[in-house]
Amino acid sequence: MTGVIAPLFAVAFGLVLGSFLNVVIYRLPRNESIAWPGSHCTSCSRALSWYENIPVVSWTVLRGRCRTCGSRISMQYPIVEAVTGVLFLAGYEAFGLTPLLPVRLLFGCAMIVLFAIDLEHQILPNEITLPGIAVGFVASVFLPPGWTSSLIGLLVGGLFPFLIAELYARVRGREGMGMGDFKMLAMVGAFLGWPIVWLTLILSCVLGIVIGGGALVISRRGLATRIPFGTFIAVAALICAYAEGPVLRLYEQALRAYLTWAGLGS
Ligand SMILES: [Zn+2]
Repeated sequence: MTGVIAPLFAVAFGLVLGSFLNVVIYRLPRNESIAWPGSHCTSCSRALSWYENIPVVSWTVLRGRCRTCGSRISMQYPIVEAVTGVLFLAGYEAFGLTPLLPVRLLFGCAMIVLFAIDLEHQILPNEITLPGIAVGFVASVFLPPGWTSSLIGLLVGGLFPFLIAELYARVRGREGMGMGDFKMLAMVGAFLGWPIVWLTLILSCVLGIVIGGGALVISRRGLATRIPFGTFIAVAALICAYAEGPVLRLYEQALRAYLTWAGLGS
């Protein structure tokens, strides 16, 4: 019985926290207070009662509309709640009840918030990335990946893409990445250490090319240029943070295959 209760508890906790993340995603870019007022319809401002605040369930039962004014409630709400529920389950499975679990969950929540805000507003708020760099480094003093890997990761994540982007801007005469992307990558490095931030950078570029390129082909209207890079960093960082072992092994295999192909391997 205990084998089922703990994962269920993790999902339930994630769903509830996902509700809170929705509040942050909506209010932070609008400079509204996170704490006050309580949940309300963004159209008619009516305060929501407890049964309209149940993650995923309420949205489904109300069929995505406000009970009073009938205006649409974004699909983003149940999606963010469900994804956060899955994140907490994945975190529990990957790290168990260890001190690293809350740190990785905090990091995961920040990635979900940055993903949604960047997708909608094309910004990565300093309110999340800058404290994120500090918290990631301080946590790494006591926990994996350790403070040296964290510090190198912070510098690799923040500086290396910055130099590449500067070069790109000089050559092409336009910006490829924004300052928010560098701060976000520095945060990823501070939390996950230098080998993982390096993999995150590679994976986010691959995702950007595949998904961005695919969207461009499908839409033919330049949709790809409007998908912000921060969303790819968020997805890549989540994969690398929660499946560190398999991702590292895959990278090593690919690297060895390449070296053999290039005639440099043993
Ligand atoms: Zn309403």
